[in-house]
Amino acid sequence: MSSSVTFLGTAGGRTVVLGQMRQSGGMWFELDGTNILHDPGPGCLVRCKQYRLSPRRLDAIILSHRHIDHSNDVNIITEAMTGGGFEPKGLLIAPKQCLDEDPVVLKYVREFVEIIQSHEGVSLNINDVKVSFPLRLHHTVETYGTILEFQNRKVGYIPDTEYFEELSRPYRNVDTLILNVVRITRNPRISHLNIDDVMRIVSEARPKRAVLTHFGMQVLKASPEYQAKRITENTGIDTIAASDGMKLPLDSKGSLFI
Ligand SMILES: [Zn+2]
Repeated sequence: MSSSVTFLGTAGGRTVVLGQMRQSGGMWFELDGTNILHDPGPGCLVRCKQYRLSPRRLDAIILSHRHIDHSNDVNIITEAMTGGGFEPKGLLIAPKQCLDEDPVVLKYVREFVEIIQSHEGVSLNINDVKVSFPLRLHHTVETYGTILEFQNRKVGYIPDTEYFEELSRPYRNVDTLILNVVRITRNPRISHLNIDDVMRIVSEARPKRAVLTHFGMQVLKASPEYQAKRITENTGIDTIAASDGMKLPLDSKGSLFI
């Protein structure tokens, strides 16, 4: 069975998300027959329809953190996964902060799924896919990156975070490393990676391939594709910029656009 990730959006940062200059629906992983939706941001349900991905096929939904560009559609996608709650199934994996005070996961949908709290060091199996949360990241709210392992392959995802010393370590030598890059310049008040941070992480982690996504306005203006090319040239690691609707095979190199 083939494995891929479909980008239901590549928007990051307020201006790009609120203006829908890029779509913002998160990522759909299909890994050897197991379907996982990561970070269902605004418009996720609409993008599923657009790209012919039925939420009924989902096995799990993962939230990296509670920010609205990563979680806005979690309730409607949970309903869609479970036939409006009439056929409870699947997992919803999220940090405690998404469930506690001012929760982004509404109480009534919690009946429809099994809820698992992500913590640093937690790992679990969803069918034949091992999902782990190796590190708590440095963001303004509780945030975890993910590693997905299937068929001797590893995909890493580094969502919103500042750069910090140990960040690259768990992602060393993964096959595909997906990174959220919101900015070009550094702003110490904003806990996000910029292009230089990403360049450093890629050269430290040495994945077989890196994929940039979650672009803020600065990155869009500076051409994500050009920035990816710079990273490739500087690190020797094949790096590409994701685009809305891009379906990237994960069991082979190269990309396929839909
Ligand atoms: Zn965030």
